[in-house]
Amino acid sequence: MPVNILNLPGLTVLDFKETNDEYHIKASPIEIVRCCPNCDSSNNIVSHAWRTLVIRDIPSHGKAVAIHLDVPRLKCRSCNKTFTAAVPEVDAGREMTLRLAKWVGRQALEYTYAEIAKQVKVDEKTVRNVFDEYVAELEKQYKRETPIWLGIDEIKLKRFRAIFTNLHGRSLIDMLPDRYTSSVVTFLNTLPDKERITHCAIDMWSGYRRAVQEVLPNTKIVVDKFHVVSKANAAFDIVRRKIAKESNNGAGLGLKRAHKLFEKRRDDLTDEQYLTVTGWLNNFPLLATAYDLKERLYFIYEVETPEEAWGEYLHWESTIPKELSKPFRAVKTAFRNWKPYILNYFDDQRVTNAFTESFNAKVREVYRNGRGYTFERLRAKVLYTDMLQKRVKVQEKVRVRKQRFEDVATARYMCLATPMSDEYETQIRTRVANLGTDLSTLEHAFDSGKF
Ligand SMILES: [Zn+2]
Repeated sequence: MPVNILNLPGLTVLDFKETNDEYHIKASPIEIVRCCPNCDSSNNIVSHAWRTLVIRDIPSHGKAVAIHLDVPRLKCRSCNKTFTAAVPEVDAGREMTLRLAKWVGRQALEYTYAEIAKQVKVDEKTVRNVFDEYVAELEKQYKRETPIWLGIDEIKLKRFRAIFTNLHGRSLIDMLPDRYTSSVVTFLNTLPDKERITHCAIDMWSGYRRAVQEVLPNTKIVVDKFHVVSKANAAFDIVRRKIAKESNNGAGLGLKRAHKLFEKRRDDLTDEQYLTVTGWLNNFPLLATAYDLKERLYFIYEVETPEEAWGEYLHWESTIPKELSKPFRAVKTAFRNWKPYILNYFDDQRVTNAFTESFNAKVREVYRNGRGYTFERLRAKVLYTDMLQKRVKVQEKVRVRKQRFEDVATARYMCLATPMSDEYETQIRTRVANLGTDLSTLEHAFDSGKF
C-alpha cells in the first residue's frame, strides 16, 4: 500500500483491512531504538525474534483503529536480556500511539471514560490512567499565584471536597478529592511562597483550622461570616419545619416548602413575599421569635470592633427564650468554640468567602445533572480550561545588583565581563500572574450550558 494512511512518519503501512467497526492496518517501523532498557548498552544488540504488537490509534471515520505492528525482539549480549525494540511514536507499554494518548487525555475532559474506551477499543482503566497523566501534565503548565487572602471552603459532590480560593481575585485555585486535614496540609505545603498568605477564611471545620495552624502558623484565621449566619438560618429552619409539621391546617399550608423565602433577609423580600412571611409570623408567635433571632444575629456584623461584636453576641444570646434554646444551641456552640476566629473578622480588613456559594450551587447542579462527570474530570475541566484562567499583570519589587554606568562602559571598552557591584537597588517589574479559574467566567460557562 503506497499511501501512508496513518500519517505517522515512523511507520510504513503494508496492508489494510476494514470491518464494520474497525480499521486493521499492518505496518512495520522505519526505525527502531536498539538500546537495552536493562543496561543502556547499544552495542552488542542482536535480533532474536519477531513479535506482532496490536497498537491502538486515534479512531478514524467513526471506527476504531488497530495497527498490527511487527517489531523485533532483541537480545543484549552485554547483560543477556531480551526485550522488544522501542518504536518512535508508539507507547508499547500502553499498546497505543503517543498521539492517541494525547487525544484520549483531551477527550476525557469532554466524555466519560466508558465512551472513550468503547470508541478506541481499550479498557476503561487505560483511559483513566492516560487521563491522570494528562492532568498531571496540565497541572505543571498552569502555575497558580499564591493568594494573600486564602479561602478554604468545601463542596459536597457525593462527599465533602475542600476548595481553595483567592479571595481578592475571586478565583478558584484548586479542589481536593476530600477534606481531610492531611490532604489540606499536603496541599498547603505545595503552595509556592506560602508565607505571603496573611489571612485565611474558613468555615467551622476543625480540620481546616488544624491544617492552617500547622502549615501557616502566622496566618490569621477568620471564620467566614456567611457560615456563622447560616447557623442561625439552620436553627430557624428546624423551628419552621416543626411548626409546619404540627399544623397541617390552613395557616401552616405551604410553610413546609418556604425554605427559600425565609432564608432571605427581611429587607430583601418583595412586597408580596413580605406579606406572605408576616402572615405566617402573625399566626405562629414562636416562628416570629425564631425569625427575629435569625435576623438579629446579622447585627453582630454591623459593628466596628471585636469587643462590640462580642457584646452584641452576648446580648443576642441572652434573648433566646427557653422554648428555642434547643434549636439555637448550634449557634451558641459555634460562638463558644470559634470565638477568636469569628472575632478576627473585626480586626482589620473584612475577610469573607461568601462569593463561592453561588459557584458551589452551580457545580453541584452540573455534577448532579447526570452528565457522567467524575470529580476528577469536573475538577480538571474547571481548573484547566484555558478561557477560564484569570490572568492579571502584577507589579512587584525585585532586588537587583546595581550596575553603574561607568563600570559597564569601561568593562565593555576593555572587553571584560561586566563587573558585579556589591550594591543593590530595588526595581519594579511587571509579570503576568495566573490567579486561577475566574469564578464569574466559570458561572457564565455553567449558565450557558458549556459544561
Ligand atoms: Zn543489556
